Amino acid sequence: MRRYARRVMLWYPVNTECMANDYYEVLGIPKHASPDDIKRAFRKLAQEHHPDKGGDPEKFKEVNEAYQVLSDAEKRQQYDQYGRTFEQARAQGGFQGFEGFRDFSTWAEASGVNFEDLFSGMFGGGLGDMFGMGGGRRRQRRGRDLEIAIELEFSEAVFGVTKAVPLERRVPCDVCGGSGAASGASKKACATCKGAGRVRTVQQTIFGAFQVVTTCSSCQGEGQVITEPCVACRGQGTQLRTDEVQIAVPAGVEAGNTLELTGQGEAGERGLPSGNLYVHIRVRPHQLFTREGTTIFSRIVITPTQAVLGDRVIAATVDGDVEVKIPAGTQPGDQLRLRGKGVPRSHGFGRGDQVVTVMVDIPRKLNRKQRERWEELQRVEKEEREKT
Ligand SMILES: [Zn+2]
Ligand SMILES: [Zn+2]
Repeated sequence: MRRYARRVMLWYPVNTECMANDYYEVLGIPKHASPDDIKRAFRKLAQEHHPDKGGDPEKFKEVNEAYQVLSDAEKRQQYDQYGRTFEQARAQGGFQGFEGFRDFSTWAEASGVNFEDLFSGMFGGGLGDMFGMGGGRRRQRRGRDLEIAIELEFSEAVFGVTKAVPLERRVPCDVCGGSGAASGASKKACATCKGAGRVRTVQQTIFGAFQVVTTCSSCQGEGQVITEPCVACRGQGTQLRTDEVQIAVPAGVEAGNTLELTGQGEAGERGLPSGNLYVHIRVRPHQLFTREGTTIFSRIVITPTQAVLGDRVIAATVDGDVEVKIPAGTQPGDQLRLRGKGVPRSHGFGRGDQVVTVMVDIPRKLNRKQRERWEELQRVEKEEREKT
């Protein structure tokens, strides 16, 4: 489940040491040096500056750092494009190379940095959320996402169904309509952040010390506080209520699928958007049918004479019983395909098939008449064998 970063909005560089030498200069190679050139230059310099052999440890460290970046195709490309900003930030603590810009997003915009590429996975949240992109956008804190599981009958999963599920969740407050303010009450600028919605603090992060701008906790980033909160919801704008939620399950869902119902989660505080509702699908096993994607599987049992001579028999499908032709000479395990008797394909592109596996039931007990006929058959078979 996606989690949303709540606090960090903007990053300002605090620690801005001087830029060290260019990595290419450190290794004494041209910008277009091949991976082999880089390796050779590194080996030579590493030996020269190795502290165990009386070299300069600082110089050795520098050579090492340059090699770590330039020997890695991806890092090298990043370095060529953006300079040492990120590599160095990691190594020394502090973003560099964007002094003079008002904030990180301005710098990134000017440098053409793709946030998502550089930071994907690091914070587990949307980056637009974190770096107040677009300047001064109000922090949105939507309601919580909810998760439930529902269990369907086999045919409900095949054909789709609408389920009414009771769900307890926070909804907009009845009394104040979600605003959180008592009727007629006004709002005033938040005293903590003076209406800005954000406060600045210095934080230690994996990049070193930063002046971090966080959402003001007094006003939740709104910059305003309610002078007289709604009594019913204590200014929150939400109330707990159990509703019957109508969940429209589309045809063709499978066990393990999750439906996303946008805006069906909990209401956000003071009129902010609702979260989503995630519905996990379970399917009860069926006595006759199993399923793989849009194909339904079933079995049919016939007698040896039906297998030998062929016949018409009744087979169960999700649409009801149908007549199926058993061809003469059907073998045990043969599969018959019933076209269009499977699961509807998504986006209305017809239906899958049903595959019926034929089982032949060998009789364990025979009455006198049957025994005579089987013995007769056996004599014929023997004569046929002796002929050839
Ligand atoms: Zn209220
Ligand atoms: Zn505030």
